Amino acid sequence: MKNEVSLEWRKVMNNTIVGFPRVGKLRELKFISEKYFRGEVNKEELLQVAKELRAEHWKFQKNAGVGMIPSNDFSFYDGVLDAAVLFNVIPKKYKDLQLDDIDTYFAMARGYQGKAGDVKALAMKKWFNTNYHYLVPEIDDDTEIKLVGEKPFQEYHEASQLGIQTKPVIVGPFTFLKLAKYQGRKLAADFADELADAYIAMIRKIEGLGAEWIQFDEPSLVTDLIDDDLKLFAGLYEKILPAKGGTKILLQTYFGDIRDCYKEIVELDFDGIGLDFVEGKESFSLVEKYGFPKDKVLFAGLVNGKNIWKSNYEKILSSLEVLKRHTDEMVLSTTCSLLHVPYTLENESSLKPEISQFFAFALEKLQELNEISILTETDDFRVEKEYLENKELFEKERLYQSEDVKKQVNELKENDFVRLPVRSERAIIQKSKLKLPLFPTTTIGSFPQTIEVKKNRTQFKKGEIDKATYDAKVNEFISDCIREQENMGIDVLVHGEYERNDMVEFFGENLEGYVFTEKAWVQSYGTRCVKPPIIFGDVKRTKPITTEYLKYAQSLTDKPVKGMLTGPVTILNWSFPREDISLKEMAFQIGIAIREEVNDLENAGIKIIQIDEAALKEKLPIRKSDWYKEYLDWAIPAFRLCHSNVKSETQIHTHMCYSEFDEIIKDIDNMDADVISFEASRSKLTILEAIKENNFETEVGPGVYDIHSPRVPSVDEIVKALEKMLGKIDKNKLWINPDCGLKTRGITETKESLKNLVAAANILREQY
Ligand code: GLN
Ligand code: ZN
Repeated sequence: MKNEVSLEWRKVMNNTIVGFPRVGKLRELKFISEKYFRGEVNKEELLQVAKELRAEHWKFQKNAGVGMIPSNDFSFYDGVLDAAVLFNVIPKKYKDLQLDDIDTYFAMARGYQGKAGDVKALAMKKWFNTNYHYLVPEIDDDTEIKLVGEKPFQEYHEASQLGIQTKPVIVGPFTFLKLAKYQGRKLAADFADELADAYIAMIRKIEGLGAEWIQFDEPSLVTDLIDDDLKLFAGLYEKILPAKGGTKILLQTYFGDIRDCYKEIVELDFDGIGLDFVEGKESFSLVEKYGFPKDKVLFAGLVNGKNIWKSNYEKILSSLEVLKRHTDEMVLSTTCSLLHVPYTLENESSLKPEISQFFAFALEKLQELNEISILTETDDFRVEKEYLENKELFEKERLYQSEDVKKQVNELKENDFVRLPVRSERAIIQKSKLKLPLFPTTTIGSFPQTIEVKKNRTQFKKGEIDKATYDAKVNEFISDCIREQENMGIDVLVHGEYERNDMVEFFGENLEGYVFTEKAWVQSYGTRCVKPPIIFGDVKRTKPITTEYLKYAQSLTDKPVKGMLTGPVTILNWSFPREDISLKEMAFQIGIAIREEVNDLENAGIKIIQIDEAALKEKLPIRKSDWYKEYLDWAIPAFRLCHSNVKSETQIHTHMCYSEFDEIIKDIDNMDADVISFEASRSKLTILEAIKENNFETEVGPGVYDIHSPRVPSVDEIVKALEKMLGKIDKNKLWINPDCGLKTRGITETKESLKNLVAAANILREQY
């Protein structure tokens, strides 16, 4: 860090962060863990790298001037799992393996298959509205919750030895109980007492080590709460708080506001409360309306921990001004853990300064905290260098601004979102034009990405081959793929997606306004990291993206080849969005770009076009009451925008990687696609019931086999699955397809599986 300042001489507003990324600057933790999993390094080497990483992270924070530095925010896999292990919530099946601590931990995280036994991993779920995933603790009736672990104490001690006093961080008891899965008759409330005792034991031990603060993360407070939840929360803390002794307790919330319980919670005996003032739409008004107790510290989450943009100092300083009127003591903080942003800009060598000047990743955010803290205590911050520089930045013209695109979005009319004639009429026209058999068979888009396919892409990216050579090779793959599908007897073919590595990155790379990073990895789960592209400016399509490949594919066959695009909501949800315009505006910009692509495909003679919305549900707001006004009211129209002006005979498909859309089934139908395929082989399939009950109009292709496994489904198995579906779905509306794209599968199993799928379709056609 260039800004190695010591702040001791100056009384500035204290600051902190909710947590720091764990994986390391260059994903060191990922690589060493994976080596450990493969048996290439031993436990000591793994622990040593982890220790060095923690030390480095603490030192960075110290040098950057962070006032309260977190510890125990490090994790080998996930913080919820850490808490489970700390409190002995370790299911018997893992204990029975009789492995040592760290291996038991990894068995829970990743499953175990070996000499000691064979057990699956704990379930994994999305962490609120992020792309991070936590492991779901499993609690049995006879689980004995008690403090058994050492992790927070060891890490506190480790930091102390480096001369750094830390604030231990841990998932709070309420969130822990809310996220856990109960295997027996006993439920959350039945474990509250025991868990509270375990937390008290932990606080005591932390107190003994000399910690001034401890942070309890309670993001479950920002969800829709019912009375029982509030009772559970109160029950836990009414027991814990009186026993806390000399250590101060920070109740940390994030990803939203705590409108259901603010009033009650500020009355409790917490020493500090952390609120998210960015995603928490009502956080300000709650503080203004109900005030904030004088005897507590407000941890003001104002530096966005979830996005990669520099903070607007002026905005934050004026927010602090407002909050100051209601509080006696404040600590400046991030909205949530910095776990959700990449590590540092220092590793980005190819970003132009005109672009990177607008970004702040985790390390740069530390510097922002420090600068803002200093500015709050300056007599007149309006003349300070840091303030002026930041102000100037926000006044700067940004690259990739397009008046054209803005105008197009502004001029969108109602009929841009309405496709005519209505779906039932289109269906008749499409049936007569496409002449598909009953139960049409198709796949979701990608075919196996073989070594040759990947090699072709790498060679092109490295500049070893030119575009013409690359495309010629892609065309070879396409041609093989078409021939294979014809031989297998599939009805609606795909071109195989050999030109893409990733369904979002590929479109991003071909759209103006997008920016890509080299090392900006963010943890998704365990050792898996993702590198989301950044929407920097107005998104615009400057040239056709997929038409040439599709035209070529269609030229090889008389059967229809599906055009294959990613939808605007998915592209948006898997990118870092801008903060200067709304999500709705970005979705519409991308929607217009995809619409142009749809039109080009149609003009090129493509009769069926699939627009994937694999991530539509991902950013559904945490609270139900926000679902429509904050999301679905623009997300569904953004999809409709893509296909509203195609001809009646052009059939529009969409695809989703999940089937849990019962609750928004009307909205899914409202996307007005002609056909939807979705994952169905692993799920409980309450969706089939919902489809029937809601008279779902869209034709459906519930996946008939799981593509996540190399296993080949038998004909019989597929027939049985289909028969079950036919109990709920009109036979004229049923399609037959796998769960998802086949790109991670091998060639042989793919062929076998699809052959069986076609055979199953033929059997069914004879029966009906
Ligand atoms: N069309 C994409 C594919 O087949 C869809 C991928 C997805 O749903 N995640 O790969
Ligand atoms: Zn999918």
